[in-house]
Amino acid sequence: MNINSSIANRLSDLKDKIKNARDSFLGYPVSKDFDYSPLYDFLKYPINNLGDPFENSTYKVHTHEIEREVVNFFAKLFRANPNDYWGYVTNGGSESNLYGLYIAREMYPKAMVYYSESTHYSVKKNIHLLNIPSIVIRSQENGEIDYDDLEETLKFNRHKPAIVLATHGTTMKEAKDDVSEIKKILKKLAIQDHYIHCDGALSGTFGAFAEPQTPFDFVDGADSISISGHKFIGSPIPAGVIITKRSLRDRVSKGISYIGSLDTTITGSRNGHSPLFLWYAIQQLGVEGLKVRYKYSLDVAKYCKKELQRIGIEAWSNPGSITVVFPKVTDHLKNKWQLATEDDVTHIICMPNVTKDQIDLFVEDIKTEMESAPLKEELSYY
Ligand SMILES: *Cc1c(COP(=O)(O)O)cnc(C)c1O
Repeated sequence: MNINSSIANRLSDLKDKIKNARDSFLGYPVSKDFDYSPLYDFLKYPINNLGDPFENSTYKVHTHEIEREVVNFFAKLFRANPNDYWGYVTNGGSESNLYGLYIAREMYPKAMVYYSESTHYSVKKNIHLLNIPSIVIRSQENGEIDYDDLEETLKFNRHKPAIVLATHGTTMKEAKDDVSEIKKILKKLAIQDHYIHCDGALSGTFGAFAEPQTPFDFVDGADSISISGHKFIGSPIPAGVIITKRSLRDRVSKGISYIGSLDTTITGSRNGHSPLFLWYAIQQLGVEGLKVRYKYSLDVAKYCKKELQRIGIEAWSNPGSITVVFPKVTDHLKNKWQLATEDDVTHIICMPNVTKDQIDLFVEDIKTEMESAPLKEELSYY
């Protein structure tokens, strides 16, 4: 297909802009070190994964088989019961969270949802969409849920089924809520009707490799787990995965079986390319490759923390986390390095593509600003 020169120019300008923006960010949890060029040919096909990836469907231009392998991989990584798991590749962590909450509500329509202040904004919106009553639990200073506050709050609502939304890697501080501790509290209060969804969008992909590990998987007590595919693994198209129990999915599919189909996913038409990207990455890396990727990120995060502390910045990180947290920087630096800021803190997320050289450049930038800061302060007195 020939394209005229004005279209070609627009595309080339846009590509340059995207490339420049990509090369200078440190603040968002997105890997950019992928090469999916062997998959380019698949863009020629109208792939659509509509329907349940584990069921037959009439539309055959799909990648269901590949999608199932992606689900199998994460189910195993999250220690799901081999005879009772199910899942699909979503549009991202937000849809995965919506799914987890959706089956939780189908199971316990009269439940109350408990989530901490540090929970991702997608969860609040999903709870609103599903119209489930909810209570916000305090967070500790490090971003982890306050277990005492959770217990106290649950105590007042013992007569109601409880849906607890735990986060494995909060957005700002990469804190991890301890799923087995939450399970223990539910048990202690004898709340038998409960459901725990673990939002592992940020850290679920590498949670199994942390030492020590914060309990978050199916053996630890989760009923469903979500991850984002475009974060730690990296993908040109946003993607996520939801893993849950097959027995739970069956409730949802039964609930609407009168429409004569296993319409078990949130959207009808579904991206058939994104499972292919995730599958390809998993094939290339394997569990060992993911582990290496995590160790690398952890090492860069430790370096980043040390270098910031060396110039007098109070940088810190949660155990096993690849996010380094420090007091917010000037707008100039925030914009230059695309750093997300909330309240008084900002962070650098040492995704696998972030290098020590980049950290050095950033630290140098901060240092330069600090050296000129006293002057600015003096000036501001006048
Ligand atoms: C990124 C993120 C989400 C949302 O995931 P998307 O893939 O962006 O939809 C949800 N929860 C947490 C903790 C996240 O970090």
